[in-house]
Amino acid sequence: MENYAERFDAVRARIAEAAQKSGRRPEDIELVAVSKQQPPEVIRAAAEESGQALFGESRVQEARVKQSLLPSRLRWHFIGHLQKNKIRAALGSFELFHGVDSLETARQMQRIAEEAGQRPRVLLEVNVAGEATKFGFAPGALEAGVEELVGLDRLTIEGLMCIPPPQPEAEDARKFFVLLRELRDRLETAARVGLPQLSMGMSHDYPVAVEEGATLVRVGTALFGERVRSEQ
Ligand SMILES: *Cc1c(COP(=O)(O)O)cnc(C)c1O
Repeated sequence: MENYAERFDAVRARIAEAAQKSGRRPEDIELVAVSKQQPPEVIRAAAEESGQALFGESRVQEARVKQSLLPSRLRWHFIGHLQKNKIRAALGSFELFHGVDSLETARQMQRIAEEAGQRPRVLLEVNVAGEATKFGFAPGALEAGVEELVGLDRLTIEGLMCIPPPQPEAEDARKFFVLLRELRDRLETAARVGLPQLSMGMSHDYPVAVEEGATLVRVGTALFGERVRSEQ
């Protein structure tokens, strides 16, 4: 049996340490426990032992099955790529969508949310390293499209999210986190909106992300151990 209380406390302690180091308050950073590919009984045990309530999932169907089996006090964020044909099913199931990654997806969400009477909270995913294989807005495209995005009145856009390419050292990811924060600052000025949330940092590099302003860190492996099935 894993000792979830210890693992979660260790991650929380490193978040607090990184926050203090950079003059931030630990309570301004929320830990999203990434539970994708973890079975419901693992999530139940982790929640009970550690007191964690917030979990992140990257597949709509998988998440909805888990939600139906687990206590309703648990809170769920969607952290994956949202396929257009899954938007309707996903809308009422997550309190925050981290990975809205194109204008097309945002427009579809707006339309479906209007039909369904929903007001989803979203973060915009930025392709910070310009990787051809990754989803997300190019920084320039976001600066060009931000006026339209903030005009989608059904969406509450709360900030930005990124998944930098894997780096040999956590420190090497810092430049991508800085890029995301500085882009956020420019968008706030250009569109005269508040974008308080920065979702950045995973098991390998979350302390660096916290030092650079993350308000949400998405941590899986450091809490649950290696996932059994390979990453989607
Ligand atoms: C899987 C995943 C994570 C967690 O990654 P770990 O390296 O296990 O911490 C974070 N964010 C996203 C978007 C993911 O898909």
